[in-house]
Amino acid sequence: MEFERSGPREILEWALKEFWPDIAMSTGFGASGMVLIHMVSQINPKMKIIFLDTGFHFKETLDFKDKVIEKYGVNIVEYKAQISKEELFKKISPHPYHDNPDQCCHINKVEPMKRAIQGLRAWISALRKDQSPTRSNIEILEEYEGNLVKINPLANWTQKEVWNYLYHHQVPYHPLHDQGYPSIGCEPCTQAVTEGAHERAGRWVGKGKLECGIHTFLKKVDTHDKTSVKKGG
Ligand code: SF4
Repeated sequence: MEFERSGPREILEWALKEFWPDIAMSTGFGASGMVLIHMVSQINPKMKIIFLDTGFHFKETLDFKDKVIEKYGVNIVEYKAQISKEELFKKISPHPYHDNPDQCCHINKVEPMKRAIQGLRAWISALRKDQSPTRSNIEILEEYEGNLVKINPLANWTQKEVWNYLYHHQVPYHPLHDQGYPSIGCEPCTQAVTEGAHERAGRWVGKGKLECGIHTFLKKVDTHDKTSVKKGG
């Protein structure tokens, strides 16, 4: 399959056929994620969609998640930290997101994500190259150690294409997008941004951090020979 010349729906259809049932998608219910959720709901709504419940989400995110499940009947599976909030506060501080956001993200996001992708052969994400400098080099298909393939069907899409899709297909979107939040994560670590800033500029402001770690903990296999993955496509 020629990934670079294929559209996101085509890529998703291929991936679901190739890797089912060992395939899942992750989302935080942002605009790009909604494009893929809409497509997945039409291709195979049984596919696991991973949501990391950090305990620090905006109420709007949790309400929107329920709305999406009701509208599309998709299979959202939630993962949480293995320790309680009280233990987290004791371990780091009463404000873990301010005092040690890397450790807070590790406990609430990275470790649960590692559990969520255990046993999978393919992981679909809604990352796009134009979202931030940290994502400009992503590829549609990436191979990682442990025989895991990560698929970014929207890697080459722009923010404009995402919004065109949502409007055209009348897909609901997170209410905070209309209040200046192009990217929405945990409430203590997300701010509205000024016009012209990159999409993730409101995340961990002042902390020198643009990623929580779930998209960076895996070790990439550097290969140009992807015939093993392309076989059958
Ligand atoms: S985004 Fe903030 S609150 Fe959420 S897990 Fe990371 S540091 Fe903690």
